[in-house]
Amino acid sequence: MNKTYYGKLIFEVSRKGRVGYSLPAKVGSHTLGEIDANLRRSSDLSLPEADEQTVVRHYTNMSNNNFGVDTGFYPLGSCTMKYNPKVNEAVAALPGFTALHPAQPVSTVQGALELYYDVQRTLSEIAGLSEFTLNPFAGAHGELTGLMVIRAYHQQRGDTARTKIIVPDSAHGTNPASAAVCGLQIVEVKSTADGTVDVEDLKPLLGPDIAGMMMTNPNTLGIFERKIPEIARLVHECGGLMYYDGANLNPMLGVCRPGDMGFDVMHINLHKTFSTPHGGGGPGSGPVGVRSGLESFLPQPRVVKSTDGTFELLADENSLGRISSFFGNYAIVLRAYAYLLTLGCEYFPLAGKLSVLNANYIKERLKPYFKLPIDGLCKHEFVFDGLRDEYAGGHDEPDHVTTLDVAKRLLDYGFHAPTIYFPLLFHEAMMIEPTETESKETLNSFIDVLIRIAEEAKADRSLLKTAPHDTPVRRLDDVKAVKDAKFIYKNL
Ligand SMILES: *Cc1c(COP(=O)(O)O)cnc(C)c1O
Repeated sequence: MNKTYYGKLIFEVSRKGRVGYSLPAKVGSHTLGEIDANLRRSSDLSLPEADEQTVVRHYTNMSNNNFGVDTGFYPLGSCTMKYNPKVNEAVAALPGFTALHPAQPVSTVQGALELYYDVQRTLSEIAGLSEFTLNPFAGAHGELTGLMVIRAYHQQRGDTARTKIIVPDSAHGTNPASAAVCGLQIVEVKSTADGTVDVEDLKPLLGPDIAGMMMTNPNTLGIFERKIPEIARLVHECGGLMYYDGANLNPMLGVCRPGDMGFDVMHINLHKTFSTPHGGGGPGSGPVGVRSGLESFLPQPRVVKSTDGTFELLADENSLGRISSFFGNYAIVLRAYAYLLTLGCEYFPLAGKLSVLNANYIKERLKPYFKLPIDGLCKHEFVFDGLRDEYAGGHDEPDHVTTLDVAKRLLDYGFHAPTIYFPLLFHEAMMIEPTETESKETLNSFIDVLIRIAEEAKADRSLLKTAPHDTPVRRLDDVKAVKDAKFIYKNL
């Protein structure tokens, strides 16, 4: 990071009358900028004015202040912040795609629809399900769509008493949120000490009011839910459907399939598992897959292949209708298509296994320093519960080093912090997901820095308590910084 320039606001570098272009006042007989008096604004817009070089430097320096996968290691658990091959960007930017209009007649966009159809089919193969829609804009949007499918299924059968959905206590926050938006009541099921769903706690919750159950696998603790066949049987026996949160499908790729485990509906985050840089809220894509028998409920438009080999849009009367404008985020689907083809199905399992290997490597090397509440093999991510007491000091000591202190200190060493204080099962949660794309050298330097931070905690707690020391701004009030953001230039 460029530590000397932290960037003023574009309004602060603005100088009245300064421009980055010059145009002739007249072209032929046309006077440029001539707008009818009745259409003109009565006062000038408050826009920054700057020359081109100032604008370029401004945005370049701003981007240098940002942290992304292209600048450094980003081990944000539950988010799969992995490297995205640039060829996917090149494909998504091809003019043949970017110049398409989503309302063009179907006969003029057969190639684009074929590609869309191929992704639907490929995801169905990967997931072991019958059909996919690529319409949803994000993972949470996919959850909502999938839950709407479940609701439509029950309603069509006249089974209207099913108003509740079971969600494990370790679930990603979007699960209960999407269920609530869908009008379902959330029933929480507890985890056992090994971090998986407690089947004994689940049993009494099942009944004629249960619409289904949402599960993440590997779950948010990075642990494979071994009891899925039994859980799926119990939920199905009570008349509910099984929903699979496949936002981070990396570790499962080519190894096992949600459809084979007994799931009926799922979503995948293309922007985590299948390329597309993400963060900052999008754009994303959360395709939803369903088992055979539920296809007709999927939203529109649905791309299908007709018997003569052409592609058309299917309007099904059971469909829950539109959940997005046009086809969803088509450019994200394009990136996924390029990613799927360049990786190739023979290498899907390698991506999964590497994500698992990398996570276990970090976990094993760091467990002498950090508390590991659930030991054993993890999948693509794992959760520490803060530094061990011999490094952090006991919880009763007022200046004991917390996970927040460790996360802030990591910033001084040029690493993005892992996900912290989530999941809510432990007080000092620190959730690390290295992803499959990192080299052993990068993993080693991250491990070395965390060991060094542990030693620092032991030697000089105040160094950690006051971290970060080398960032544009020091320690912020996390809540206030979100609610009351101040975009000021601070000359440090
Ligand atoms: C990221 C994530 C989601 C939500 O995806 P968005 O695209 O951010 O809406 C849901 N579940 C899990 C497990 C996730 O990691």
